[in-house]
Amino acid sequence: MNEIQARTDVLICGAGPAGLSLSIELARRKVAFLLIDKAAGPFQGSRGKGIQPRTHEIFEDLGVLDRIMAAGGLPPTLRTYREDDSFDEATREPIAANPAEPYPFPLVVAQFRTEAVLRERLAELGHHPRYEHELVDFGQSSSAITATINGPDGIINVSAAYLVGADGGSSAVRHALDIGFPGEALGVRAVVADVRLDGLGRDAWHRWPNGIGVCPLPGTDLFQIQGMLKPDTEVDPSPAGLTALLTAASGRTGITVTSVSWASVYSMSARVADRYRVGRVLLAGDAAHVHPPTGGQGLNTSIQDAYNLGWKLTAVLAGAPDRLLDTYEQERRPIAAEMITMAIRLLLAPAAGVPQRGREVHQLDLAYRDSTLSLNPPESLNAAGSVTGGRRPGDRAPDAPLLGAAGQPTRLFTLLRGPHWTLLGYQVHPDITARTGLHIHTVGPDGDLIDNNNHLQQTYGLTPGDQVLIRPDGYLAALLPAAHADLLPAYLNEVGLTPDREAARQPQPAP
Ligand SMILES: Cc1cc2nc3c(=O)[nH]c(=O)nc-3n(C[C@H](O)[C@H](O)[C@H](O)COP(=O)(O)OP(=O)(O)OC[C@H]3O[C@@H](n4cnc5c(N)ncnc54)[C@H](O)[C@@H]3O)c2cc1C
Repeated sequence: MNEIQARTDVLICGAGPAGLSLSIELARRKVAFLLIDKAAGPFQGSRGKGIQPRTHEIFEDLGVLDRIMAAGGLPPTLRTYREDDSFDEATREPIAANPAEPYPFPLVVAQFRTEAVLRERLAELGHHPRYEHELVDFGQSSSAITATINGPDGIINVSAAYLVGADGGSSAVRHALDIGFPGEALGVRAVVADVRLDGLGRDAWHRWPNGIGVCPLPGTDLFQIQGMLKPDTEVDPSPAGLTALLTAASGRTGITVTSVSWASVYSMSARVADRYRVGRVLLAGDAAHVHPPTGGQGLNTSIQDAYNLGWKLTAVLAGAPDRLLDTYEQERRPIAAEMITMAIRLLLAPAAGVPQRGREVHQLDLAYRDSTLSLNPPESLNAAGSVTGGRRPGDRAPDAPLLGAAGQPTRLFTLLRGPHWTLLGYQVHPDITARTGLHIHTVGPDGDLIDNNNHLQQTYGLTPGDQVLIRPDGYLAALLPAAHADLLPAYLNEVGLTPDREAARQPQPAP
């Protein structure tokens, strides 16, 4: 059998939402990587179909938001039937955009369509997942990982600086590292299936009293059947079997499943990995956390893991201190633990399974306030521990409409789009040496940006002289009053944003 030797910077095991998102992050930063998946081809199921508002913002940055919006649709009206087939309808009130939150509404997008959009974006950046490539073994030293991959043309021995296990809930990478995966089996079995059917309208998400629901999948002619099963219920995933399931759920005889494109019966569990990093190996997505689907958090959390990890891996590969990578687990593991607690609470709530949720599932309020990356000068906190204006380092950086110096409309999110850090001086020119990967703007009469309606000032609680440092993943790193601006250079060095050598070589004015 052939044995091929290969070398790359990052080996990504698993081309689901986490692996694809991480690949886009690395590709747009020109990092060398290999994305492998043991499956024969792309995943064809709809399972993670709820895309949350925070993920839209990330998709905007990744350059796929318009395509994702076109691939899905707003959640349909929820029609809940009673035993006598009468029903209540909960029409979804549109959630209006506001200057700080341009996309505050969730979307329904079949997971296979989300993944297709991510693959298309990755192809634009010159990369493709390698299917039929299974990670079968790996080891690590202090300087590299070595991995054995079983591919269609033989064994590939890969040497890389890092391995990311984005290989799903039963992660071989997590098992190989013997990382604990504490939590619980929830004792709940569920069915999910993508079907074509006759006898139900596409104008509503239908739900029956026994917890079985049927949701039209926007942009397709499919419906997703989803629901919890009684412990001893066997499900026959054929058209006849799923027709029988819907007949029993609805008490009607007119609903006929005509074809099944994908189906799965699974047992819910809720677990979070003890560690997200062991040396040069990291876990992302379901490999690091599994949970019930209530609240539609899993796919979103997986993409956001990748979004947090991508820029940090890039920075460390380019020479930033290795401890930057430790902040990945520090920031993302508590998020997964919180998400799991919420998903279990929603599962056990009286309205369990009702897919109409509030802001708690939108992920706009997730924050990394306790992260070592959140720069909090002690004097900037008031007695309650808050910065004036309520925003704190670690919070999501909200959007704000702005004008360019010639009066042309722009938005903060437009300025943030891309792999760079952003430093805003509010009515002050930041006194910082230029660095690769840092964009510096001045907001104010003499600056390149005008906060004409004071949205930026109010949303961020700014006073003249303040500086706002925003991370590549759209979280606030620092909100510094003028008196603490001297903290910035050391912070920037720590995250790998060192002054450009050429700039540093320029003659400095005599003191
Ligand atoms: C019924 C259901 C409903 C859900 N609803 C939602 C929802 O509404 N919203 C939401 O956010 N989430 C939802 N989820 C969860 C969501 O589907 C997952 O969180 C998401 O798929 C995780 O993405 P991932 O990339 O981490 O892993 P996966 O999508 O599982 O991808 C892992 C990949 O790794 C590959 N792989 C595994 N082992 C190897 C190996 N040794 N070598 C190479 N490749 C390997 C696999 O082939 C696979 O392609 C739902 C899940 C279910 C089951």
